[in-house]
Amino acid sequence: MGGLIETEYTTCDLCGSEDQTLLYSKIDPVTDQEFHVVECRCGMAFVNPMPSEACIPKLYPPDYMEGKELMDSRYSRMLDLLPDEAGGRLLDIGCARGDFILRAQRRGWSAEGVDLIPWNRSEHPSILIGDLIEMDLPENYYDAITAWAVLEHVRRPSLYFRKVSTLLKDKGLFIFIVPNFDALGMRRSCSEDIPRHLWLFTTRSVKSYLEKNGMDVVRIMHNSSIYTAYPFGLLRDLLYGLSPRPRHCSAIENRSVSLLRNAQLRGNLLRWLSEVRSRVKPSDMLLDALDLAMGVALSKWSSLIRNYGIITVIASKNGEKKLRENQKTS
Ligand SMILES: [Zn+2]
Repeated sequence: MGGLIETEYTTCDLCGSEDQTLLYSKIDPVTDQEFHVVECRCGMAFVNPMPSEACIPKLYPPDYMEGKELMDSRYSRMLDLLPDEAGGRLLDIGCARGDFILRAQRRGWSAEGVDLIPWNRSEHPSILIGDLIEMDLPENYYDAITAWAVLEHVRRPSLYFRKVSTLLKDKGLFIFIVPNFDALGMRRSCSEDIPRHLWLFTTRSVKSYLEKNGMDVVRIMHNSSIYTAYPFGLLRDLLYGLSPRPRHCSAIENRSVSLLRNAQLRGNLLRWLSEVRSRVKPSDMLLDALDLAMGVALSKWSSLIRNYGIITVIASKNGEKKLRENQKTS
């Protein structure tokens, strides 16, 4: 890949604190560099030192989007989260190839998107390439803004929450998906895609970001209907867990699951199994299988107890005021 990733120390984006605890270290297979995940006392966890702004595009391999195209059923679940505004204005942040924008347009939305990286877009459409924060877009203009698994990838989420709040109309909706680091096992599993995921949110930190920017939670959903999260690696963490923290992910990660980083193996069960047979030691295979079962069970359980590893959030600009007014009139 494209050379050394420069990094710099950063303070917590949510509370500004410099007081952090090292949670784990992980060697990134894309860049071959080691990155560290720290936790702030406010509950936000993040990569620190953090890749510099200029190096962010270098973190993504050319095949990053391969196998990530969602099925139509998932797009329709995303569209169903949008309000009923025929002809409403929609902005999709981190729109990649623009597949969601296309579908929203077909449903009558006047939809456009922004992305930092010009992904290979086959069809069209209204996509601006560049840094959203610096873009001169109309304020109080959009009925809905979406960010599907994007905010964990940006260097300063606080700037995005602020920008979204200025771009949304009053009572407009901000609909987004982020990892929930508070979910069962997620803090100890190393399963986050570090350092592409730079910030690991919790429901508490999400609420705090929204409140600071004049938005309120309408609904938080804990389910796997759009993206899934599995805390793989916990079995080895338990086995080696007697040693004190911090840990190194290479010691605990699920060897078989990590082969799925190769885009060609995703969604191809037989190829993946044959790769596992040739690359994973038999003793590790058993641990991997048990760990896989444990990760799947925990993931299901997390959803049932409403503390899932990925959360879908619907927030409203000045929504609380609206809610109070609604309560008064009903
Ligand atoms: Zn903090």
